[in-house]
Amino acid sequence: MAFEGLTERLQKAMEKLRKKPKVTEADLRETMREIRLALLEADVNFAVVKDFVKKVREKATGAEVLKGLNPAQQIVKIVNEELTQMMGETATPLAKAPHIPTVIMMVGLQGAGKTTTAGKLAKKLKDEENARPLMIAADVYRPAAITQLQQVAATIDVPVFEEGTEVDPVQIVKDGMAQAAANHNDYVLIDTAGRLQIDEKLMDELAQIKALTNPNEILLVVDAMTGQNAVNTAEGFNDKLDITGVVLTKLDGDTRGGAAMSIRAVTGKPIKFVGEGEKMEDLDVFHPDRMASRILGMGDMLSLIEKAQKNFDEEQAQATMEKMRENTFDYNDFLAQMDQLTKMGPMENLLKMIPGMANNPALQNVNLDPKQFAHIKAIILSMTPAERENPDLMNPSRRRRLAAGAGRPIVEVNRMIKQFNQMRKMMKQVTNGNFSGLQNMMGG
Ligand code: GDP
Repeated sequence: MAFEGLTERLQKAMEKLRKKPKVTEADLRETMREIRLALLEADVNFAVVKDFVKKVREKATGAEVLKGLNPAQQIVKIVNEELTQMMGETATPLAKAPHIPTVIMMVGLQGAGKTTTAGKLAKKLKDEENARPLMIAADVYRPAAITQLQQVAATIDVPVFEEGTEVDPVQIVKDGMAQAAANHNDYVLIDTAGRLQIDEKLMDELAQIKALTNPNEILLVVDAMTGQNAVNTAEGFNDKLDITGVVLTKLDGDTRGGAAMSIRAVTGKPIKFVGEGEKMEDLDVFHPDRMASRILGMGDMLSLIEKAQKNFDEEQAQATMEKMRENTFDYNDFLAQMDQLTKMGPMENLLKMIPGMANNPALQNVNLDPKQFAHIKAIILSMTPAERENPDLMNPSRRRRLAAGAGRPIVEVNRMIKQFNQMRKMMKQVTNGNFSGLQNMMGG
């Protein structure tokens, strides 16, 4: 997960400040020095850091802050506000054309995640707006690029316009636009060619496609893992094409996060989306304010709630509650719950959105290996329908059969069944308003 180191360092600096009975000018200077180092180490652009520190210092030096109640808290608030400001303040929605189609040109270096992101965006538009996008395959230099786009598009059921690799990309785009007009597609997503680095010929081609289509959005896809290079790439593309926004991919990876924080400040262009995984649903709207509080270890409950709302089916949740109350919650329900949970993305990422959890040492000991989920699933899938519906059937010989069927040791099967039974008991108590079981379990 991005930002881990930064969060830890910033929290330490703030913690030190909080412990002081009184905050002096010297304390403030020391804190600012620590923040400056933390940001530089997270790979935030040097000029951006300088500007950031200057702004925070100016706001915090005001006599009111140091003399007022709880100066440490005030300073955290200022840092939070300035971080948010630096990353663009509020989320910037996609531009929309007054008449269909809205044209979105995807640009970026090879490997940044352009094709994947085009697919994710098309899926998002489909899911959220019931849109009918058309994707145009305009990368004719990498032979596999068209096939890759077709594969991505097939998984989300979106059509692709392509004319192979022999036709000039500008012509392909022209023909694709004609097809979109004929089919009344409301969005056109153009997957353009990438290169290993910015070169004149590519930029000329992109400029021609821009002139031809007059796009509503030119989204530059950059890989957060490339650090300062991402910022330089953004500057280069922006100079040539006057991009409208940035999609930062691979934020789920182990990046120091500095790029995310510098791009807006350096280019003046907003980050519109972030990619947080390889799956088609792993694209999120970028909210600078939420990101700032995530970086400061203050959690991001809003995003967590949104994720839950998006992935949880209200009716199913009601039905589950009912089953818990009646103690008829069975292995089928358990399986459905697990599927919903895994749809929300890696468990660690979810937990970190809870305030105070980002650097909670307790998290280090939690084993959230997705493989364990897969093993539990395999065991349940080895059950007969009758067994799934009647959790009480689980006698030793059935357990042995499950172990063999799922290819897991018998102790693991026993542990899973024991935990399931405990959970069922607890659910019944909780839904009936009796929390003593829960308290017992939590050592209360
Ligand atoms: P393109 O050359 O810019 O079109 O890049 P691709 O779309 O082919 O992506 C390159 C690789 O990055 C692929 O393996 C993608 O699955 C992966 N990728 C793209 N976006 C993300 C992301 O947000 N997170 C992770 N972990 N991988 C990503």
